[in-house]
Amino acid sequence: MSKVKNMMKKSRKLKDTTNQNPKSQQAKINKTTKKKKKLTATSNNSKQQSNKKRKIKRIPKSKDKQKTKNSTKNNKSKGKKKSNKEKENYEQKKNNHQMIPENTEEKQQQQAKMGKMWKLSDFEIGRPLGRGKFGNVYLAREKKSKYIVALKVLFKKELQKGGVEHQLRREIEIQSRLRHPNVLRLFGYFYDENRIFLILEYAGKGELYKKLCKLGHFDEKTCSQYISSLASALSYCHSKHVIHRDIKPENILISINGDLKIADFGWSVHAPNSRRNTMCGTLDYLPPEMILGKAHDQNVDLWSLGVLLYEFLVGTPPFETEGHQETYRKIVKTDFVIPEYISSGAKDLIKKLLLKDPKKRISLELLQQHPWILKYNSSNNEN
Ligand code: ATP
Ligand code: MG
Repeated sequence: MSKVKNMMKKSRKLKDTTNQNPKSQQAKINKTTKKKKKLTATSNNSKQQSNKKRKIKRIPKSKDKQKTKNSTKNNKSKGKKKSNKEKENYEQKKNNHQMIPENTEEKQQQQAKMGKMWKLSDFEIGRPLGRGKFGNVYLAREKKSKYIVALKVLFKKELQKGGVEHQLRREIEIQSRLRHPNVLRLFGYFYDENRIFLILEYAGKGELYKKLCKLGHFDEKTCSQYISSLASALSYCHSKHVIHRDIKPENILISINGDLKIADFGWSVHAPNSRRNTMCGTLDYLPPEMILGKAHDQNVDLWSLGVLLYEFLVGTPPFETEGHQETYRKIVKTDFVIPEYISSGAKDLIKKLLLKDPKKRISLELLQQHPWILKYNSSNNEN
């Protein structure tokens, strides 16, 4: 937790942000959501539409307070009765494969490591940071430690409607075990009757996607450094047998120090079909082996890294077209053109990542030794 402490120290103070005018915040958020790019997949279009409709709602603080008060009251007055009932509910939900993590022992160990079982009243809730498909994300501060975190609030009903309870369970299981400077930490979780709360590392500079939209593209130095740090994170994940499978700018956040943080691990373990048809939207990052329904391995992340590198440099992904079929065709044929103005070093790396045969793609270790990576990451050769 000392790492966390250091990080949190560096983070913005909650006071500063909560004091901002909520109206101007709302306008700011609305403005940025409008910038979401046009995506080819229908599911993403609908997501985009919902983005346009976004209205940031605060967690009704007083209600929550009231709820906590009531629940403590109830707990006190009902004592054992209440906790037995809770246990029953829990068991029932567990058996029904609801969204409460399956492995209770693991859960307890994890929470023991963190020293406690979390509850909403442990946090002060600040401004909304964004809205996701299944709930909202808020800036929050743990009252005792004053740690700043991002609290992701997911609505059980929405998760059930989307049939994604098991993905959430995996997100929690996978992300809470990963420790890497370029992987967003998941510190813990808790839940109440209607909601699941994920305690996440706060990424003070928000979504990489928004930054990319704002700037159009990144310069070669930035791209090289970003790709190197992402390759380092993926290398770590692969060493833990975790394949992300959903690397794209929307799933990468930026810390207050400007470091990239890979997020959204839960959705990455979707089976390719449900992944394509439900929330993941964009087809642009899908590797040929997944489109062709072939077995795939960690090399899918190398392909996505290649697409990402291209999009970072050019501003649009390499296989972007108007229709799904055309995008599929282009991906399967690896039909892409790199603009002239891109340096030969960057071109070479893109070509070494965007290879149809997954085994032929440059390994993450060799990527770190690629001249175009070494050129801008001289002190980063240990990866
Ligand atoms: P999903 O992850 O459910 O597919 P999503 O990525 O659109 O959906 P969330 O992950 O819930 O949505 O996040 C919504 C928004 O909140 C993000 O776009 C981002 O701007 C902001 N956000 C999420 N997590 C953090 C965080 N840890 N730190 C700072 N901002 C965050
Ligand atoms: Mg997300």
